[in-house]
Amino acid sequence: MKKFHILLSVFILFFTVSCQTNEPKIITVSGEIPASQIGKTLHHEHLLVDFIGADSISYNRWNKNEVVKKVLPYLLEIKKLGYKTLVECTPAYLGRDPELLKMLVEKSGMQIITNTGYYSAVEGKFIPKHGFTETAEQLASRWIDEAQNGIEGTGVYPGFIKISVERGPLEAINRKVVEAACITHKATGLVIMSHTGLAVPAFQQLEILHEYGVDPSAFIWTHAHNESDFNKHLQAARMGAWIAFDNFNPDRLDRYVEFALLMKKEGLLNHLMFSHDAGWYKPGEPDGGSFRDFTDIENLLIPALEKNGLVQQDIYQLFTLNPAEAFQVKIRLKES
Ligand SMILES: [Zn+2]
Repeated sequence: MKKFHILLSVFILFFTVSCQTNEPKIITVSGEIPASQIGKTLHHEHLLVDFIGADSISYNRWNKNEVVKKVLPYLLEIKKLGYKTLVECTPAYLGRDPELLKMLVEKSGMQIITNTGYYSAVEGKFIPKHGFTETAEQLASRWIDEAQNGIEGTGVYPGFIKISVERGPLEAINRKVVEAACITHKATGLVIMSHTGLAVPAFQQLEILHEYGVDPSAFIWTHAHNESDFNKHLQAARMGAWIAFDNFNPDRLDRYVEFALLMKKEGLLNHLMFSHDAGWYKPGEPDGGSFRDFTDIENLLIPALEKNGLVQQDIYQLFTLNPAEAFQVKIRLKES
C-alpha cells in the first residue's frame, strides 16, 4: 500500500511538472512567464522614443536615471489601476533600451515586454545601413539571434517582433522586413506586430505571411483604427489576424466603442486589442518633454464599453485573455 502511495505521488509530481512545462510562455524583460500570468495588459505603449534617426541614435542621448525618474510614476499609476503588464513597442534604432527597461521593471514591479525587428516606415529613416543591403534572411538571422541569445548581451530577450510599413502599398524595404518577420516567426514563435494603418498594406502583409506559410493569427494589424472601413477589420479578424485599435484618446471614444460592439456582435471580440500608443520620454527635450499617461482606457473607454453592454468577461477578454494569447510564444503555421 505504501509503495502504491509513493508511486502515486511520483506520478502526480511528474504530471504537475509536465503540465507546467507545456504551459504557453510569454517573454518579458525579466524572463519567461506562463502566459496565464500576463494579467491586465496595455499591449501598445512607449516609455522612450527618439526620432533622431538610425544614423545618429545612441544610448548616450539619454541618461537612464533621469528617464527612470520621469517615467516611473506613470508605470506606478497604471499598476495601481490593476495593470500587470505593459508592452513597450519602441523598436531598435528608435530608442529601445533593454537596460533602461530592466531598471523600470525592478523599480515598478510591472512586467514589461520588449521586441526585436526594424521599423521601415518614414522612408527608411529608422533602418540601419545594413538593413538596406542585407537580404530578408540575413535580417531575420539578426532578429533570431536576439531571440535566442538576448539583446546586445543584456540578458533581455524580445517577446515579439515589431516592424512597420508605409501607409500606402508596400515598398521593397517594407516587403523585406515583413519577409524577415515571417522567417523569424517560424524560427522563434514570436508574434509579429506591424505598424500598418490602412487596409491595403495590411492585406498585402497577410499575403506575404501566406506565401511563407505563416497563419494570420501570428499578425497584429497595428494602428488598424486608421482604416475607416470596419468591413476590412472584420475580414482580417475572420482570417485570424489581431486587430489593434491602439492610440486611444478621448476624441476617439465613440468610434472605439462602436467597433467593440460590432466585434462582439460578430463573435470576434477574441481578435481585438486596445491600447493608447502613449508615453514617452523624448531625448533632446527639457526633462524629456511632455508625457501622455496611460489612464484614458481605464477612466473612459472601459466604463463606456460597460455602459454600452460589454460585460466583465468581455473586458477580461480584451485586456487579459487576448494579450495572453497574442503574445504567447507559439509557431503559427497556416493549415493547408
Ligand atoms: Zn507605437
